Amino acid sequence: MSAVRRMFRSRAWPIEGMTALGLALAPFVLPHLGFAPGTVNQILVWGLFGIGFDLLFGYTGLLSFGQSAFYGAGGMIAAYLLTNNLMSSVLAALVLGTIGAALAGVLVGVIALRRTGIYFAMITVAIAETFYFIEFSPLAAWTGGENGLPGVPAPKLEIGGFSYQIENGWSMYGFLAACYFIGIVVALRIVRSPVGAILTAIRDNPLRARAVGHAVWRYKLTAFTIAAAYAGFAGGLLGVLQGFMPPDAFTFDTSGQLVMQTAIGGVGTLFGPLVGAAVWLYLRDLLQATFGLGSAWKLILGLVFVLLVCFLRRGLIGGAQDLIRRFARPSGPVSEEAAAPGRSAPSLASLGASRGREQAPFPGPVLETRGLSKSFGGLTANRDINFSVQRGEMRGVIGPNGAGKSTFFKMLTGELAPSAGRILFHGRDITGMDVAAVCQLGLTKSYQVNQLFTRLTVRQNIVIAALAERRGMFALDLMRRMDRVPGLATQVESTLSLVGLTERADVPVAELAYGEKRRLEIGLALASSPSLLLLDEPLAGMSPRERAETVQLLKNIRHGRTLVIVEHDMDALFELAERITVLHEGAVLAEGAPAEIQRNRLVQEAYLGGVAAA
Ligand code: ADP
Ligand code: MG
Repeated sequence: MSAVRRMFRSRAWPIEGMTALGLALAPFVLPHLGFAPGTVNQILVWGLFGIGFDLLFGYTGLLSFGQSAFYGAGGMIAAYLLTNNLMSSVLAALVLGTIGAALAGVLVGVIALRRTGIYFAMITVAIAETFYFIEFSPLAAWTGGENGLPGVPAPKLEIGGFSYQIENGWSMYGFLAACYFIGIVVALRIVRSPVGAILTAIRDNPLRARAVGHAVWRYKLTAFTIAAAYAGFAGGLLGVLQGFMPPDAFTFDTSGQLVMQTAIGGVGTLFGPLVGAAVWLYLRDLLQATFGLGSAWKLILGLVFVLLVCFLRRGLIGGAQDLIRRFARPSGPVSEEAAAPGRSAPSLASLGASRGREQAPFPGPVLETRGLSKSFGGLTANRDINFSVQRGEMRGVIGPNGAGKSTFFKMLTGELAPSAGRILFHGRDITGMDVAAVCQLGLTKSYQVNQLFTRLTVRQNIVIAALAERRGMFALDLMRRMDRVPGLATQVESTLSLVGLTERADVPVAELAYGEKRRLEIGLALASSPSLLLLDEPLAGMSPRERAETVQLLKNIRHGRTLVIVEHDMDALFELAERITVLHEGAVLAEGAPAEIQRNRLVQEAYLGGVAAA
């Protein structure tokens, strides 16, 4: 099936081809626009530096103000090796600088990624300041302190008997353009790989990315390390370009300039930093030299920045993309998905009802809790719950608002640690296990309040969940194409058809009707092929028609699955479930067949009172 391939590969080669063409033409075009070769070379170094930063910020959603640390570290390592004659090959020194920066990235990432949001950003600032200090004082003997390292040689290319000494100007441009091209090709591969897709999912909704079974923290560390490697490589090139490794590569200004250039060019585009650097450096040259503004040029630049960020939220590239889309859309082709209704829908049975990596079936209950309790401060949300579900069962859980139903589910999936008690899944103790690990074992849930990847399309959402099932919690298949993940496309398409969203597969989540979002929410849980699926109020907030559709969906998915459904809509639940458990004030009040529960006096008093009286 080619849908997944189409989605991730459609415009693959043209981008690389256009980049190569653009880089080849630049020396013939840019001088006419007033760019000196030295400026163009600096733009390439900044652009390469920014590719990694954009993977980190634009794709993964992690704003780092500490990239100067890796830029400086990579540059200093390469320059030190070359200026002390420890290494004669410039390329080898650049590679070692890149590796050194990546290792520093791992160490810094392990610390900084303990926090998220503004605290993460602040830690990166603090760590970059530490690097700056270390460069200047303790390591001054190696880094040259405030003098930097002069005498960095330009590369000499030797192929067979032929050797070519690179010099400044357009000769250096050729070398840097080749480096940039390699950098962008690698980044494009990463972005189109399963890891790239997971990074965007983490940016959108880290909680759900984890809940569908991805080791979110490790993927963040991967992005951080890649960003550091790009920074280190670019830092090495800076030294080579200038023949001198400047200590100011380590300053906060460097990090700040990178962030601003990326914002100007377009976050999440990979080419944004290059375009941003071109604007920045062009304005600098123009305003400083031509208009003689001296250091006041930053005032104008600041204005440009504010205007751009206010009016083009996705930067120059994002703005251009929006423009193209606006003109292309009215006459554009209709979605191929919608135009191909005749394609045979995969049979419902073809979607693995329970995941394949489950070993020999456990003879006892699928799920069992013993004395499960949870308190929040003084409030006991769950009290001594003993609960068990048999294979193939469809269990209903009811209880008034605040009875503790959602809390109970959160403990089962590992989102909340119980205060007391044990949880056994297929006989295995999973108490306190991480939510991603629990999902990998085959237990997941759909949320009471939608937890979707809101900036992705319907299909991309399902792909994210299915990837966790196909690849496990963590894999570094950075160069693998999405259509090379075995069984992925089939799994995605059958999940889409199961939840009735095939026709809507290429629609962004933001454009879905509420009922469709609810079904996608269930689809995300289904796509990980759980052997036990928990559904937290799947019918909440639906119109009667959407409700009927979803009840039918629940009837469809029950075959071959074990389900536990928390629901307020009792008519629906009494129709669907074989057994009902009633929770009241955090404890189990009653359990039995729907008819028994309806007759139970305690239940009537606690929950059905109004209904029974009527
Ligand atoms: P239900 O899903 O049955 O409506 P919940 O499990 O959401 O109930 O909540 C049960 C009780 O626990 C409520 O009183 C709620 O306010 C409380 N509660 C739930 N989550 C938290 C939390 N994270 N911190 C404090 N109290 C909570
Ligand atoms: Mg709830």
